[in-house]
Amino acid sequence: MEVLYRSTRGQGETITASKAILKGLSEDGGLFVPTQIPALDIPMAELAKMSYQETAYEVMSRMLTDFTGEELKTCIANAYDEKFDTKAIAPLKEANGAYYLELFHGATIAFKDMALSILPHLMTTAAKKNHAEHEIVILTATSGDTGKAAMAGFADVPGTKIIVFYPKNGVSAIQEKQMVTQKGNNTYVVGITGNFDDAQTAVKKMFNDPELAAEIGKAGYQFSSANSINIGRLVPQIVYYVYAYTSLLREGKIKEGQAINIVVPTGNFGNILAAFYAKQMGLPVHKLICASNQNKVLFDFFTTGTYDKKRDFVLTSSPSMDILVSSNLERLVYRIAGNDAEKCAEFMKSLSENGEYTISEDMKAQLADFYGNYCTEEETAEAIYNVYRSSDYVIDTHTAVAAGVYEKYKNDTKDTDTVTVIASTASPYKFSRSVMSALKEELLEDDFALIDRLSEISKVTVPNAVEEIRTAPVLHDCVVDAVDMPNAVRNILGCN
Ligand SMILES: *Cc1c(COP(=O)(O)O)cnc(C)c1O
Repeated sequence: MEVLYRSTRGQGETITASKAILKGLSEDGGLFVPTQIPALDIPMAELAKMSYQETAYEVMSRMLTDFTGEELKTCIANAYDEKFDTKAIAPLKEANGAYYLELFHGATIAFKDMALSILPHLMTTAAKKNHAEHEIVILTATSGDTGKAAMAGFADVPGTKIIVFYPKNGVSAIQEKQMVTQKGNNTYVVGITGNFDDAQTAVKKMFNDPELAAEIGKAGYQFSSANSINIGRLVPQIVYYVYAYTSLLREGKIKEGQAINIVVPTGNFGNILAAFYAKQMGLPVHKLICASNQNKVLFDFFTTGTYDKKRDFVLTSSPSMDILVSSNLERLVYRIAGNDAEKCAEFMKSLSENGEYTISEDMKAQLADFYGNYCTEEETAEAIYNVYRSSDYVIDTHTAVAAGVYEKYKNDTKDTDTVTVIASTASPYKFSRSVMSALKEELLEDDFALIDRLSEISKVTVPNAVEEIRTAPVLHDCVVDAVDMPNAVRNILGCN
């Protein structure tokens, strides 16, 4: 069965997976969605015998049907190798009554590595298949983790350049240090004086600017995206939910067919959408639990049916979830609108013009797969403290939002027996200051002294990704206003 991709806003053509990955975003501003979701038509017991890489092949080959088996296997082998510090790639840790799916064992110790270690391979393969003439320029807006993970993936990949924009005052010290020390002669990092939404909006605008496209085309370039709006990011993320399930099955924690809950700390709605796609493919999932921080637009949406971005943007201790416009929700809205692109386009128009939209009761009824809630900063810190107290296990601030929301879910629904997987999206080392504060430890001034202390407490060795930046020189120091982002791109590409 061939799976093709079309825009959530209905204009533009239906295209192959490889073309959708190359383009990133449709020219009508919509996101590419599969015209149908293929079934994972292979018994879970069979999958339970497979390695992460073999599982990845089974899942991805069903979604990316114009890639040959050979091509996909090569991409997978090049992505999920020694860059990960564990053979399991995505191990499960049992703590405090749930299973933490550790998605932070890649090069930059956040879950973005799961998709961004394979995206460059998918993209260069797609460029070859489609005889792309231009060099690919990846434009990325980051709330802290995507930028570094994308650069780690694309650094020195022939035929590509990558430009990352991050909110200068909106990321953690370690996140910033990781980015500004990035090596590779095709990587560019630009701080902006604005928040993540400003950066993301400006990047989307650049994608949809035909004049800019013509200008850079003349210079031999074309844009693509490494943000989770790219379907090439989403598909590899389906894999680890399947793998978590089959790992539980293999270890005898569940029986075949038994449904599990999945809790996801959510920002742009990419990670949880991948879990939703996994369910659509046939993975036995009871509830998809969407956890937000104080920027609780999604919680309000699930409760009221109104998506309203007109509110203050709160800087929290889980900065990678500080987002008011969750891009990937558009893919869910499209689906619950009955794959009606026209309706979806109207909602998105209303969002950009009026700052809000309200879905119909019919559509709202289709959100029954989801449960949404949020944690305040105090509740997030409490979750870190409680999990550590009960299980000697240190979780990061983002994962803590999920852990806190899971407790609320159990209280609200009395569903305390369903086996539950919590997506653990970052290593605590990436947010050590907030984590140590939550653990009520002394806040040593020096970031690296603090990290060494965290290592003593958690009994987990400091990951390589952190060791590397202890002494690394700063290589990028450019800061611009959000409105000047297109000029920054022109400068970098030499089209002035
Ligand atoms: C990006 C990120 C999230 C949010 O994921 P989305 O796919 O944007 O919802 C959560 N936690 C961490 C650590 C992240 O880097």
